[in-house]
Amino acid sequence: MPMKKCRDFCEQFSDYLEGEISIEECRQIEEHLAACSTCSVIYKSLKTAIEVSKLALEDKISDEVRDRLKTLLRQHCKDQECQP
Ligand SMILES: [Zn+2]
Repeated sequence: MPMKKCRDFCEQFSDYLEGEISIEECRQIEEHLAACSTCSVIYKSLKTAIEVSKLALEDKISDEVRDRLKTLLRQHCKDQECQP
């Protein structure tokens, strides 16, 4: 299996937070978050943003919010390599 980069993990964070990924992917993300401080910071801000928007929208993340978060993540993750 090819090594995933930070960018690949960032792309999956929103799915991860919504429980829309497999157990295997979930495990990989958790391992990466434990090892990579860059991603764990990004993950925490995404988690907060999603929790806030869930409260505001009563349990559903709108496509607009989701798109905005993904754009944000891509900017953060641009050119980032994993730095365990
Ligand atoms: Zn990373």
